[in-house]
Amino acid sequence: MPAEMSRHVPVRMCIVCRRRFPKVQLSRYTRSPQGDWIPDENRTQPGRGWYLCSSPGCRERFARGRANSRRNKGFSGAS
Ligand SMILES: [Zn+2]
Repeated sequence: MPAEMSRHVPVRMCIVCRRRFPKVQLSRYTRSPQGDWIPDENRTQPGRGWYLCSSPGCRERFARGRANSRRNKGFSGAS
């Protein structure tokens, strides 16, 4: 990794509120082929990561969206 990259703070977007946060403040999730959300606490899961901020409102909406995700084939908690 180039030296200048080490000074850059990685930023990711919360999938619920779509605000941007330093990656370290976010919880990472991946999705199984079945569409289940998998908490990726160690950030070691392969595939695309989805990030959720620590806001209680976002976590609640994410939990609801997760419950619907199989039927809707996508995240629906933001609406
Ligand atoms: Zn959020």
